[in-house]
Amino acid sequence: MEEVFGVFGDPVEHSLSPVMHNAAISALGMKAHYHAFRVCYEGLGDALLGARAMGFGGVNLTIPLKERAFTLGFVELDSLSRVIGAVNTVDFRDGIRGFNTDGLGALRALEDASVSLRGKSVVLLGAGGAARAIAFQFASVGARVLIVNRTGERGRRLAEDVATVGVAEAFSFSSMEELLDGAHVLVNATSVGMHPLVDRTLVTGDMLHPGLVVFDIVYNPLKTRLILEAEAAGARIVTGEMMLVYQGAEAFRIWTGVLPPVDVMKRAVLDALGV
Ligand code: NAP
Repeated sequence: MEEVFGVFGDPVEHSLSPVMHNAAISALGMKAHYHAFRVCYEGLGDALLGARAMGFGGVNLTIPLKERAFTLGFVELDSLSRVIGAVNTVDFRDGIRGFNTDGLGALRALEDASVSLRGKSVVLLGAGGAARAIAFQFASVGARVLIVNRTGERGRRLAEDVATVGVAEAFSFSSMEELLDGAHVLVNATSVGMHPLVDRTLVTGDMLHPGLVVFDIVYNPLKTRLILEAEAAGARIVTGEMMLVYQGAEAFRIWTGVLPPVDVMKRAVLDALGV
């Protein structure tokens, strides 16, 4: 029988996970399929129990369910998803277990671009779900994480949480230029610049310097305004598709024990984005 994998979310129709995972499934010759399922916030508990009862291989969770999974009493959280407070991968092989692969996806995207983080200063824009995962992952490999978030209190709370595993501090936007002067990496983990508001950026080219690595996790569009300004300023750029690919690859490995072909997954994502 064909094994079923999927992504639960609402909205979910624009998710690139089905094309990415189905490309890997085909390349590996597996008898399986990955579908998108629209699951509302209140429906997540029933959907997870149903998926387990029907023998699903595993699911990813996206907006607005990552934090919801955390509040369901029956999802057994691994240590990372517990500190992050969000789950993006659920495995059904041994109960219902929750993981968060977003931070690892971001780390591998930078490693792919030959960027190492140990001892480096990273300015992280945002303190939402993706930023939390990135902050914990980067601090745990020895980066100094400098968090700047629109809602200051949320940024300060994240810095306090991350300080339990590494070095993290919160700053206001007014410190941005000074922070960037001494930084090695800038990560945009906000939704600013994402379709349809593609002309927005929190940081402009005049604040960037050659040698700085500018990583925008937004992948729709792939070349955000921040990425275009960074290119023009001579900074090194890392676009969002490889984080998507590597977080998905790690989920696939958790479910199947198999490392999927990341090149095939990347091609599928770029094709879907029309790049
Ligand atoms: P989220 O939990 O809703 O967090 C959104 C963040 O953006 C918050 O820090 C929020 O600040 C900030 N923000 C939103 N509008 C802003 C504005 N106008 N000015 C300043 N800050 C603003 O979302 P998320 O799940 O972390 O996702 C964030 C982005 O990352 C999305 O574009 C998503 O598509 C992308 N993403 C990419 C990947 C990948 O694999 N490449 C993975 C996950 C997410 P406040 O706290 O002040 O509200």
